[in-house]
Amino acid sequence: MEDRFGHRISYLRISVTDRCNERCRYCMPVELQEWLPREGVLSYEEILRVAAVGVSLGVRRIRVTGGEPLVRRDIVPFFEALCAIPGLEDVGISTNGTLLANPLADGRSTARALADAGVRTANVSLDTLDRETYAAATGRDYLDRALAGIEAARAAGFEKIKLNAVLMRGQSEAQLRPLADFAHERGLLLRFIELMPVSTGDVLTEANFLPCAEARRLLEAEFGPLERRPEFRTNGPASYFEVPGRGQLVGFIGAMSDLHFCESCNKLRLTCDGKLRPCLGSHLEFDLLQEIRRGADDREIAEFIQMVVDRKPKEHDFRDNYQPGRKMIAIGG
Ligand code: SAM
Ligand code: SF4
Repeated sequence: MEDRFGHRISYLRISVTDRCNERCRYCMPVELQEWLPREGVLSYEEILRVAAVGVSLGVRRIRVTGGEPLVRRDIVPFFEALCAIPGLEDVGISTNGTLLANPLADGRSTARALADAGVRTANVSLDTLDRETYAAATGRDYLDRALAGIEAARAAGFEKIKLNAVLMRGQSEAQLRPLADFAHERGLLLRFIELMPVSTGDVLTEANFLPCAEARRLLEAEFGPLERRPEFRTNGPASYFEVPGRGQLVGFIGAMSDLHFCESCNKLRLTCDGKLRPCLGSHLEFDLLQEIRRGADDREIAEFIQMVVDRKPKEHDFRDNYQPGRKMIAIGG
């Protein structure tokens, strides 16, 4: 599948739930504490069907996200079924990590069960290593659980573990070095993410916005000049830099300040309520759930997906259009 701008669409990000055991200020505003009704959420069977049709159209990578994917019941068997789709090369999970260490009935940790199912990469969110800051940012005193989850993931045998930290002025500055050291000591790939206007609530203000360039300068004050490493790429829009003297790469995801951010976009998103979105930073979404439940066959689902790809915008409109009505928790980051 190619869009109008020659992007080859090979990456599908699937949100399996809008629910979460944390309450990050930038993701889930306090006033939004209502979940979708169960019947409004795609069943696992429906998601697997869309995934398989997507793969038949050229999707090669799927990342499962939420909300917090690990709060949905029977998530491990779902991953097992997803990883078994022929032609799908890479399945990953985005998680806050707090449930990764939880044991299953058979004694394995959740992380181990996911790795055994064939999940190759785990992206774990970790904005801070300070317990109080963590509790204030996420609304939950779960830093210890998140750290235990990261250890469980390291022990589980994932191919790659990435740590994602959202940048917030007043919170992140003092955390840049501790997070870099933490990631380095454990051989994890750390990325810093600019705050995006995807929520409601008053955290998404200019005053809370810390641009990637400034975070880089602060890291340079600690470590010396960072060297840009354009040849190193993961699946997404991160730009990577090397920390001098220790060979550590640190990524920066500058959705707001990086003008080339959309150039290599290869993604489609499926929200947990069955909307297909061609771009995180645009209001466009198309109701695939309705299509599925009216009885569409696989060919019609394929045509629907292709129609959405044809409508993928050239770039997101976050910069022109600060739209607080969108909520990351409902879209799936
Ligand atoms: N619960 C999982 C987690 O926290 O990783 C998966 C879902 S979460 C919505 C996915 C990612 O989106 C997280 O790394 C989170 O920090 C990020 N995120 C949420 N709201 C954001 C915002 N307003 N701007 C930038 N990143 C955001
Ligand atoms: Fe939950 Fe992840 Fe959103 Fe935080 S960022 S509220 S952990 S879904």
